[in-house]
Amino acid sequence: MLLHAFVPTSRANGPGPRAVVYFQGCTLNCSACWNPETHKFRGSEVGVRAVVDLFEDARRSGPLNGVTFSGGEPMQQAGALLALMQEFRNAAPAVSLGMFTGYTECELASGEYLTRPKTTVDRKTALWREVRGLLDFAIMGRYDQTQPATEPLRTSRNQRLVLFSDRYQVGDFGPQLVEVTIGHQGKAVVTGFPVLGVPI
Ligand code: SF4
Repeated sequence: MLLHAFVPTSRANGPGPRAVVYFQGCTLNCSACWNPETHKFRGSEVGVRAVVDLFEDARRSGPLNGVTFSGGEPMQQAGALLALMQEFRNAAPAVSLGMFTGYTECELASGEYLTRPKTTVDRKTALWREVRGLLDFAIMGRYDQTQPATEPLRTSRNQRLVLFSDRYQVGDFGPQLVEVTIGHQGKAVVTGFPVLGVPI
């Protein structure tokens, strides 16, 4: 898979402390997207096992309520996404799984999405059914800068927070936050919702 970044712990991407997996690559091209550096399908191929190892390290470093998949567009690498979800659930059944996707549920259910590598519509509908079966929640829909939103985890009003399990209720999703994580090599990773700018 093409990985953009792995953040071991965040409080800005769903309920409780969560690891965040950022996929590299997105063709949806929403105007004024905040993560344009994640759009190109380029970078190093990373094995699913290597990401699972990062997850295990994160769990050893402190309590994790869950993992959130973001990007980039996770569903454009749906095979790798599903493999990761299965590995995480096997390793830690209590950990919840969430996702940001620019696709609507209707598009995914009908296989109207691009994947890398390419596959058939039937395979894509099957992939989405399996991903859906493991998800606890997702924020779904393109970012539309003409409809700014302040609701938890949503950047535009057309987006939907969909609950796929009974693990959470809407009230469990807190206000939008922005976080800056400084890695050991001094690289800053900004996560969350920098609506009010990035703290300096
Ligand atoms: S789906 Fe997300 S990453 Fe892709 S262009 Fe839209 S906002 Fe950006």
